[in-house]
Amino acid sequence: MGSKEHEVHDFIRDIINKDLKTNKYGGRVHTRFPPEPNGYLHIGHAKSICLNFGIAEDYKGECNLRFDDTNPSKEEKEYVRSIIEDVRWLGFDWEDRLFFASDYFDQMYEYAVQLTKKGKAYVDDLNAEEISRMRGTLTTPGEESPFRDRPIEENLDLLNRMKAGEFADGEKVLRARIDMTHPNMNMRDPVIYRILHASHHNTGDKWCIYPMYDWAHGLEDSIENITHSICTLEFENHRPLYDWFLDELGVYHPQQIEFARLNLTYTVMSKRKLLELVEGGHVKGWDDPRMPTISGMRRRGYSPSAIRTFCTRIGVAKVNSIVDFEFLEHCIRDDLNKTATRFMGVLRPLKVVIENYPEDQVEEMEAINNPEDPNAGKRKVPFSKVLYIEQDDFMEEPPKKFYRLAPDREVRFRYAYFVTCTEVIKENEEVVELRCTVDPATRGGAAPDNRKVKSTLHWVSAAHAMDAEVHLYDKLFTVQDPLGQKDTDFKELLNPDSIEVLTSCKVEPAVKNLKHFDRFQFERLGYFCVDPDTTEDNLVLNRTVGLRDTWAKIQKQQQMNK
Ligand code: ATP
Ligand code: MG
Repeated sequence: MGSKEHEVHDFIRDIINKDLKTNKYGGRVHTRFPPEPNGYLHIGHAKSICLNFGIAEDYKGECNLRFDDTNPSKEEKEYVRSIIEDVRWLGFDWEDRLFFASDYFDQMYEYAVQLTKKGKAYVDDLNAEEISRMRGTLTTPGEESPFRDRPIEENLDLLNRMKAGEFADGEKVLRARIDMTHPNMNMRDPVIYRILHASHHNTGDKWCIYPMYDWAHGLEDSIENITHSICTLEFENHRPLYDWFLDELGVYHPQQIEFARLNLTYTVMSKRKLLELVEGGHVKGWDDPRMPTISGMRRRGYSPSAIRTFCTRIGVAKVNSIVDFEFLEHCIRDDLNKTATRFMGVLRPLKVVIENYPEDQVEEMEAINNPEDPNAGKRKVPFSKVLYIEQDDFMEEPPKKFYRLAPDREVRFRYAYFVTCTEVIKENEEVVELRCTVDPATRGGAAPDNRKVKSTLHWVSAAHAMDAEVHLYDKLFTVQDPLGQKDTDFKELLNPDSIEVLTSCKVEPAVKNLKHFDRFQFERLGYFCVDPDTTEDNLVLNRTVGLRDTWAKIQKQQQMNK
């Protein structure tokens, strides 16, 4: 990748260009992607990953992968593993720059001592509730804590004893000493250390005080010599605090830049909410193909290049907005169209017997692997007397615009013959089998007399077909903005039909050569991917996305509304 993305233009790159001109960071560009390992990454994180690593690539700079693991929590190890896997899968490389914020705990503590010595931090005995109450509101100033004017020596002693484990959780905190009447609430003596007797995945039981996000994050950036610390808009009014800490400590000072987070229709984009879906059993796990997680999308069959293209195309803005899920699917389809090998598979089989075809004859029909890619070559597909076609490709009494198979009608079986339906066999009113004939002169799918047919169907040979279980997916939620509905828990808005499992599918034999996660197209049905649950004798396929581009329709509608 890389070269093409050089053309990308956005307000963050404008800032970097200016900084390069003024030599603000000695010509360096150094970014970071700083996930908190408290869940799996989602497509919103992909936007941030593409932005941070993309900028580093464009400017021949560097991007760190840094775990912002300042919060002790039990499952962090699995999350760390999955995050590393996902960033790598997206195609990015942090070389030897994999960092853990928890490795800086000693340094952060030293900085806290330094701030305390300067009279710019104090130990407060108020509890969380009192602190919150005395913070004031947007329209009223806060009140100073009775402990705010403790002598420096006493603060240093108490801080040391907090660290030594002499106090219980919540008994004391360390606060910055800024201004309780500051118009920006974040500047009203924010807490920088709290007591938490909890084990940490990296530091074990070494610490019982843990740094708060605002305190830790700028220090991490400073320690790593980051030049541009890119974060989402919620942190805009934390920037004065970010700057205050670094200025008071007199240490290296990166530039924080905020951009609008990605939101997508029909899904939720928060690790906490996604965890609720996993823990509540509403989905099969973090990598359920319906999840907006990177691992879910990988399992669904989305390609890394398609996700990167999507992230580039949505761009970077300073105003929050919501992107149509259909646009993501449009990018996926676009990418897979160019790369996916075509196969034939039948989801809901209807048996077809070719009456004028010899019982034990098999012909290897030549099929094109990818019409979009001349190098993809051809393959052989076996044709024989008994075949399967799609149930909904036949109607006994076809309405006007139904051009597929019907009694006495001729259609093309792709890569094979023109086929005419001569008899319909039913059991209890239900069509269970069709009797047909082929025109031997149409072998390969074209008629010598240039006679036309109105449709082309896909098919598989019954004797050669493999059985498959196919999972079809629909949107995870029934409404565009599941978190924005008044008085309704988002879990009540889950789409009950978000998955459909078809267990009697029949697919052409070449599919057996595919490996877990391989992506391909079933002609006329959409793009699919081999699920990792697939075993020797159980082929499980996920439909990635259908073929019809609903994005184009939405765009047309939006244009009409303008
Ligand atoms: P969540 O609310 O899902 O837990 P978060 O922001 O708390 O997200 P972090 O692990 O702290 O998750 O995020 C790592 C980086 O990814 C941060 O720089 C954050 O700004 C960015 N990020 C998170 N969500 C999005 C999003 N929807 N769009 C763009 N960037 C995002
Ligand atoms: Mg978070």
